[in-house]
Amino acid sequence: MAGKRVVFLGPPGAGKGTQAKRVVERLGLLHLSTGDLLRDEVARKTALGERAKGYMDRGELVPDALIIDMIRGRFAQAKSGFLLDGFPRTVAQAEALEQITPLDAVVSIDLSREEVVRRLTSRRVCRVCGAIYNLTFNLTSGDTKCAACGGELYQRDDDRPAVIEKRYDVYEKSTAPLIAFYRKRGLLRSVNGELGSDRVFAEIMQILGA
Ligand code: AMP
Repeated sequence: MAGKRVVFLGPPGAGKGTQAKRVVERLGLLHLSTGDLLRDEVARKTALGERAKGYMDRGELVPDALIIDMIRGRFAQAKSGFLLDGFPRTVAQAEALEQITPLDAVVSIDLSREEVVRRLTSRRVCRVCGAIYNLTFNLTSGDTKCAACGGELYQRDDDRPAVIEKRYDVYEKSTAPLIAFYRKRGLLRSVNGELGSDRVFAEIMQILGA
């Protein structure tokens, strides 16, 4: 049987990226993070990166057409299943995705606005391997190197308080409607993102029947 086709929904900072890394490693799925793909385009100063950067810095969504064009070709490499992290983020993107591939499960990782702000202000990311850390869980202040690869840890430009609030607003307005969208299709399962990382992982594995 082909591998699972999974979407992670949830506000920024809910743990989608952290959980996605663990799940794809366990299940051998292709990890498709539109945020990571966009940050790579920005770092390489491609035409897409130059167009996307302003939206990202302001905490706004990059226009649907750019995102859909960027992701469409990636499914060809996903014969043994995929995990979409940060896509779709609008109903228009979800409708485009339906035209590209069926899905097996949509997992919504839920987290309150207060907890999102708390987590994102203390999030640090490895510039080299993308590992995600948090000053309140697994990093002591003063740590500047990634425990996995020794790369430099940095704070994302959009993890500043004013931008975080904006990103949560955008999530509520544009992305939260996808919860009803996927519930209607019988695909939605929810996990409480406030549980510790290991509990969230265990619940996701149970949902995926793995
Ligand atoms: P993320 O790493 O998923 O938090 O994404 C970082 C930023 O990239 C977002 O705040 C958006 O500006 C942009 N972005 C990522 N994925 C999408 C998407 N599916 N649609 C529109 N913009 C996106």
